[in-house]
Amino acid sequence: MFVHAAANLVQLNGKPMPDFNTLIPKDPLVFQVAWESTLKCNLDCSYCGDGHDNKSSHPLLSNCLDTVDFIFKYLDIKMKQRPLHMQQSNLNVQGGESLFHPKIIDILRYINKKKADVDWHLGTATITNAVVGANLWKRLAQYLDYYTISYHPESTTKQQQLVKDNILFLKSINKTFHVSIMMHPKHWDNCVSMVDWCKENNIECNARQIDHHWLDMRFNYNKEQTTYLTGKEITAKDKLMYALSKGLNLSSTGRACCGGNTLCAGGCETNYVQDNKFKGWHCSVADYFLYIRQTTGEVFTNKDCRMNYDGNVGPIGNLKDPKTIFSKMHNNGVVCKKSSCWCGLCAPKAATKELFINATKEDLNHSIE
Ligand code: SF4
Ligand code: SF4
Repeated sequence: MFVHAAANLVQLNGKPMPDFNTLIPKDPLVFQVAWESTLKCNLDCSYCGDGHDNKSSHPLLSNCLDTVDFIFKYLDIKMKQRPLHMQQSNLNVQGGESLFHPKIIDILRYINKKKADVDWHLGTATITNAVVGANLWKRLAQYLDYYTISYHPESTTKQQQLVKDNILFLKSINKTFHVSIMMHPKHWDNCVSMVDWCKENNIECNARQIDHHWLDMRFNYNKEQTTYLTGKEITAKDKLMYALSKGLNLSSTGRACCGGNTLCAGGCETNYVQDNKFKGWHCSVADYFLYIRQTTGEVFTNKDCRMNYDGNVGPIGNLKDPKTIFSKMHNNGVVCKKSSCWCGLCAPKAATKELFINATKEDLNHSIE
């Protein structure tokens, strides 16, 4: 017997959904590698949390190239466990500000050279603040397929103009990108004018709330700002519910897939999970994600979830000892120990081992009985 760990789901048509015991993406997903290649950043945003450390040094080029070798070997194993149509992966080079690394061109060139030697697909992406000189920005474009550009209002006017120019350049060469505007309550007019600028220039963007600890009042939004962000007036009860939940700004307890994927919950389609709790479920997070912290050498399955191959929360190993990582790899799923699921929501999962094997057998070519 098992407990339906996630209920109260809403279908795409808005109707309540029956209990479910499997959650799988509607369409096959690419394998996502997030490589935190440096912690140094050319900005110093007050809301950044642990996203950067400007006292640290950029990692050595030789270490970065070794990591690229590790990523390709790891992906080669994972891709060969998938059927041909699912041999798709994506490497997101991020930071800090990864494009601020003095050897970034060498790193990206090396990745692209290695891509030519494998028979599966690897896309290259970055999350960047786009505060990058025009010449370097243009050179980088030959190596990157997809950009997530975060607009940070705590930058200077000159930097903000540079970001706009760089965005327009990407548009002019038909690159795929998305702009995420950090809606700072103290720089509100600046942020709203950036949203307007994107709309005027037909640029896809989202106005993003700044996540912060609920005791930290610096980034709280006023009534007018919350209405702008949510499209509705937030009541005192909404605020209390928010404070009692995760401390995330104005969010409720559930979540949508961060990649915008539609999910199938027991056969019904949804894009929002009200109770994102799967403790005790079998989950294939290790078959869809890899997260690497270059500065510490730690390697995890997923940045948020961090469930490892042994079924514990923690790293799968360290870049200093890749052999141990390779020796532990399997594609039989892990039993979830987390109290809530954030990034990793879209990884196929099921309430029992048998359901898990059935739900994923087409995709993962399991070795377990
Ligand atoms: S640009 Fe990003 S990584 Fe850099 S300080 Fe701002 S939030 Fe942090
Ligand atoms: S928290 Fe991790 S292991 Fe648990 S369901 Fe989410 S992705 Fe899977």
